[in-house]
Amino acid sequence: MSIAENIQAIRARMDAAARAAGRDPGEIQLCAATKMNDAARVREAVLGGVDCCGENRVQELSEKQPLGAYEGRPVHFIGHLQTNKVNKVVGKVDLIQSVDRLELLECVSKAALRLGVRQDILLEINIGQEPQKGGFTEDEARTLAARMGDYPGVFLRGLMAIPPISEKEGDNCKYFAKMRQLFIDIAAKKYDNVDMVCLSMGMSDDFEDAIAEGSTMVRVGTAIFGARHYQ
Ligand SMILES: *Cc1c(COP(=O)(O)O)cnc(C)c1O
Repeated sequence: MSIAENIQAIRARMDAAARAAGRDPGEIQLCAATKMNDAARVREAVLGGVDCCGENRVQELSEKQPLGAYEGRPVHFIGHLQTNKVNKVVGKVDLIQSVDRLELLECVSKAALRLGVRQDILLEINIGQEPQKGGFTEDEARTLAARMGDYPGVFLRGLMAIPPISEKEGDNCKYFAKMRQLFIDIAAKKYDNVDMVCLSMGMSDDFEDAIAEGSTMVRVGTAIFGARHYQ
């Protein structure tokens, strides 16, 4: 199957999952997780109809962007971001989904102010409370959302999570449900510098469950591009 055919098949599954949950399929976006795929393949995904692209590594972003890989679609940063590489990302992407620690939040806000831009971000939540993973706890996110006015270089657009690797289908529903509740709670507060529009959760193996639990953006790599071959 071609990349475009894979995208069509995923869309059909997304739409079915949305309808089964009584949701409007139009409110759920498909983000192509493009890591380890070159500019030509990313281009195929854009032309194949994904809503946006998500890059994990700064180097890949810096290589593919000048080649026009994402043209016509927003590009997001979705990977671990080192503070010394923030200048290569801020102002160059439409959304940084993976703001996973206070130091990074401060650094992104300052970089955006220097550039005279407002950087849209999501807070990444360590929803499975896994010690080896980055991300805020739910309590930290609630506290931080109330203080977003202290970070005038950024605008908080929502939340992102990568739940634990599941053993069996449906295992992650409880984490997705927690994310939805956190998302709804923060949205209800109407804080300064916050507009909760994006709940980014669900990947190749579990995007239907994520949609059932309220995801507004799924990030799909393998199901679009095939297996990645790490060396
Ligand atoms: C790679 C990646 C994905 C997509 O994972 P697949 O299982 O290949 O669909 C989603 N989100 C992030 C942050 C990723 O790094």
